[in-house]
Amino acid sequence: MRVKVDLKKCTKSGECYYNHPTLFKVDSEGFPVVQFDPLEDEDLEIEAQQASEVCPVEAITLEGD
Ligand code: SF4
Repeated sequence: MRVKVDLKKCTKSGECYYNHPTLFKVDSEGFPVVQFDPLEDEDLEIEAQQASEVCPVEAITLEGD
């Protein structure tokens, strides 16, 4: 499974990287940077799912199995 962030939608609100700092780092402009591609284990997949639900502009999506 992979997690994708649509940076055109992202408003740099920070919920993803503040709540899931293992999965997302923040770049110098305030955009999230995914740290695992693909996701390596089930814990990260759960975090990705939670991040996709908390993102206020639905910029985070999951792809694959
Ligand atoms: S939660 Fe969504 S809008 Fe906020 S920084 Fe993350 S991807 Fe961007």
